[in-house]
Amino acid sequence: MGLAFRLALICKNQHHEQFLDAPEGRATRKRPGLERMSAACPCGRIAAHPAKPAKAAQPQPLPFSACCGPYLNEKIPAPNAEALMRSRYSAFVLERADYLLATWHASTRPATLDFAPGAKWLGLDVRSHCLLDADHAEVEFVARCREGGRATRLHERSRFVRASGRWFYVDGDQF
Ligand SMILES: [Zn+2]
Repeated sequence: MGLAFRLALICKNQHHEQFLDAPEGRATRKRPGLERMSAACPCGRIAAHPAKPAKAAQPQPLPFSACCGPYLNEKIPAPNAEALMRSRYSAFVLERADYLLATWHASTRPATLDFAPGAKWLGLDVRSHCLLDADHAEVEFVARCREGGRATRLHERSRFVRASGRWFYVDGDQF
């Protein structure tokens, strides 16, 4: 396991609590009960084609239900390495060790995962997604978190492999 993911393991995102514990009804005026799935995805992916152009022309984040949610909750395979990388970031935010282990290639997968408390994820920036061949890809990203009042920046190029139609995280190099 690379340093990056050891670093990542010590980070815990407060979005987790906000996301899971958001009171029903808050900011959900029309359709109560759907807030969790309609909340912005932790990975921060922006809608490519907003359904209705915002007056302020602000980019609209995709809801969890239209982004990483189906991969984490419905066992739908991520269609490409970037989607898998984003869903793994969301899984770190949501402390979904089961998903992280299930999407980690068996050759490099740790036996267990622990999420150390006290840190907060601040966001993900996917810098590039490079398909090397049909079954190998690299994704470069920067993830930021804060722990103990100190900001940490994780810049990694991760390697992914596709096996039996599913993408898996293998390992990565830090910058
Ligand atoms: Zn997402």
